[in-house]
Amino acid sequence: MLIMHTTCMANTQSALDRLCDPDSKVSAHYVIDEDGQVYHLVDERERAWHAGIAFWDGETDVNGCSIGIEVAHPGPDENGEGPEFPSHQWQALINLSQDIISRHPIPAHRVLAHSDVAPSRKTDPGSLFDWSGLAQKGIGLWSDCGEKDLASLSSPKFFELEPIQRGEASENKQAVEQLQQALRAFGYQITPDGVYGPATQTVMCAFQLHFRSERIDGIADAVCCARLLDLISRKQ
Ligand SMILES: [Zn+2]
Repeated sequence: MLIMHTTCMANTQSALDRLCDPDSKVSAHYVIDEDGQVYHLVDERERAWHAGIAFWDGETDVNGCSIGIEVAHPGPDENGEGPEFPSHQWQALINLSQDIISRHPIPAHRVLAHSDVAPSRKTDPGSLFDWSGLAQKGIGLWSDCGEKDLASLSSPKFFELEPIQRGEASENKQAVEQLQQALRAFGYQITPDGVYGPATQTVMCAFQLHFRSERIDGIADAVCCARLLDLISRKQ
């Protein structure tokens, strides 16, 4: 796996200090600063402590099978806004990711956000991260599906055009369970219990952070469902 992070710190030097301090118990294979300088901190063959307690597609030892890249960025403010990623930094991320993917058997669907593998604890690299742009460069999966694409997608048709919301479990138990099964089939850690409670909402927020950043509210609307089905169909 290739896991993307943002440092969520004001400057790169403090992030580097923290990532190189044994007492902090965090590390990453690479850090990319605002100018596009790449710091190689941990050998790719070694385990770095970047994912923490995490899960993807049955794998619980994410640190043991992934390379972690920290992109120096302060992260979004409380309104979800923040500075754009500088172009030199973004280009360095593209170059580094392409290089890593060329040397390791990392399928597109295993290029992930920290928030994908640890949805209840992490939101980085956040809503400002341009996953669509990365996918155009051959890095990761992306879906542009919209509501109108739902009809052409194959079953299971678990979606409702009305958002499936927290508290609607009794009416939509089966649909919620199918949604949960789809999220799990893609890779998220989720229990298909038919209850659209806080755990499911948290996973939906993680999905939105990666695949539908215009709207991060934990509601599985038609666009989210279309993209989820599309992504599962292209997971190889
Ligand atoms: Zn992270």
